[in-house]
Amino acid sequence: MFSNVRWRIALWFVGLSTAAYVIPTLLALFLFYSNLTAAIDSELNGFIASFGHAINVENGKPVLRDWARIVQTTPAHSLVTYQLFDKDGHILETHFPTGIPTLFKDAQEVSENGVTMRTRMTPLKEKDKIVGYLQVQLPTKARDEAVDQLALVTAMFAPVVLLGLGWSSYLVSEKATVQIRRSLDLLRQFIADASHELNTPLSVVQAAHESLLRLVEPTGLGSAELEASESALERMEKMLEDLTLLATMETPDAAGTTERLDLTAVLHGVINEFRPKFEQKEVQLALATEVTAPVDGHRTALERLFANLIENAFRYTDSGGSVKVSTGKDSHYVSVSIIDSGIGIPNESLPKIFDRFYRVDESRSRASGGSGLGLSIAIAIAHSHGGDIEAHSELGKGSTFKVTLPIDTT
Ligand code: ADP
Repeated sequence: MFSNVRWRIALWFVGLSTAAYVIPTLLALFLFYSNLTAAIDSELNGFIASFGHAINVENGKPVLRDWARIVQTTPAHSLVTYQLFDKDGHILETHFPTGIPTLFKDAQEVSENGVTMRTRMTPLKEKDKIVGYLQVQLPTKARDEAVDQLALVTAMFAPVVLLGLGWSSYLVSEKATVQIRRSLDLLRQFIADASHELNTPLSVVQAAHESLLRLVEPTGLGSAELEASESALERMEKMLEDLTLLATMETPDAAGTTERLDLTAVLHGVINEFRPKFEQKEVQLALATEVTAPVDGHRTALERLFANLIENAFRYTDSGGSVKVSTGKDSHYVSVSIIDSGIGIPNESLPKIFDRFYRVDESRSRASGGSGLGLSIAIAIAHSHGGDIEAHSELGKGSTFKVTLPIDTT
């Protein structure tokens, strides 16, 4: 149970750390990308501003004047492309790298033949009439490579950071749960000790009760009261026994050594014990399918698990009904379903039936001898064997309790 809690804490921590790593990283990448893009754009705006005036209009068409000045002022190996277009968007001149020779009036970033360029244009006017356009372009290759590199570095660091965080959170979760574990161990020990200690006075009271019974039986005096106290004593005995067992089952490794068991044989044994009871009540009891699957477990504990479920099916199924025990398996688990045609369990009670002392209907359950611990014991046994129990039920139609246990593959 606690290794589960530890893993859950660690997984939560890793999940949150992943979010805490991934979200700022994506944000940083986005900001890096935006800043580099803004830098390209401001460069392009600068080019437009400085060369916009170096245009002459000849025969109604723009020409780039002062070519020598542009060449002088443009850094060597410049990546910037200058393009002149006429007013209809036909290219007239291109200087430096070719770029993408199309006039882009609206677009800011364009791709062609695997090359992506940021692009800016400005209309060239003579007497308030557009005579052409100056367009400048810069490739985004350097920006894209820088962003890719940053993404690669953060992705490379991610497993290291996350593994580190995961491992440290697993260690921290040990510290976080140690106090809770101690308290629960104390509580478990207290329940086990208290139930054990209560056994002594209980047996004294039982013995006194029997003597009293023998004394007053011939007189017939107080027989109703004695009967009531006898059944209360029996219930108390059963409850103490159940509490001790529950405390034992919930203590790791306290249940003793395990053995390789044939589950079908275990089920046959339990069913045979119940058969006379079922016949008497006229409830059918059948082992419907049989699979052979070895299970590593404690025989008495597993017998108790199935006995509790069959006992419940018996208790809550009226005469004329049926209880079917069916088995199945997949590659890792063997399952045993106890299916009854009994009174069923209301939907709102289903999530609580495995809680200690929970009873759907207090009076009905008590009348039928239940302590409210049967299912808590059953699920504690299933968990201690690495298995689980699922309950499905329909009120008035019946219930199914499906136990899954890992197959022993050794
Ligand atoms: P109890 O000893 O009272 O039967 P359990 O822990 O075994 O306690 O079961 C808890 C409650 O779940 C029971 O009081 C009963 O109301 C309900 N329950 C368990 N099994 C069945 C079943 N097969 N059919 C109907 N109700 C059931």
